[in-house]
Amino acid sequence: MKQFFKESPRQSKSNQFKYCPQCGSSLTTNHRKAENKIKCNNCDFIQYSNPLPCVSVIIKNNDGRVLIGRRITGKKLWCLPCGFVEDGENFLNAGHREVKEETGLEVRFERIVNVVSNEFSSFESIVIVLEAKIIGGSPTAGDDITELKWIQSQDCFEEFEFTADKHITEKHFSGHLSGILIDRRYETKGI
Ligand SMILES: [Zn+2]
Repeated sequence: MKQFFKESPRQSKSNQFKYCPQCGSSLTTNHRKAENKIKCNNCDFIQYSNPLPCVSVIIKNNDGRVLIGRRITGKKLWCLPCGFVEDGENFLNAGHREVKEETGLEVRFERIVNVVSNEFSSFESIVIVLEAKIIGGSPTAGDDITELKWIQSQDCFEEFEFTADKHITEKHFSGHLSGILIDRRYETKGI
């Protein structure tokens, strides 16, 4: 099971402050601790530049097919329903929100099947991959997904936007995904 993917080498760090938002001093990289940590030498401000937490979801139907969506951004190729975990959300609730926004479906998460790190040119992500079955709604593309389709194991895998999605979907169809159970105590939707 592969868990590290380099989509494109990390380049820009355009989201870093040049001046301290607390005191206005010029900011420098603190090489003593980590290259990616920006520390103000005049006050206690530190800007962390961390990978972004995401969820992606393998949604199965009763025929064993998996739902993928065509993206409105990037190369406009196909991906598993996915997105960033927002402020105030846990990863399960983020998964419910993203699935609802992008597919119109309500799901029950069954297992956590993988965790992957992705490197992109402008940021890095850590993706918790969930497996889910449908409990409500009807498939309707929305948000940053323009089209949905069900795929099965013999369908071609060349059109995925992300290498990780292709890998995970192949592992799913070949029966190589195991996983850990979901702790539902803090799940607020789609039980
Ligand atoms: Zn400062």
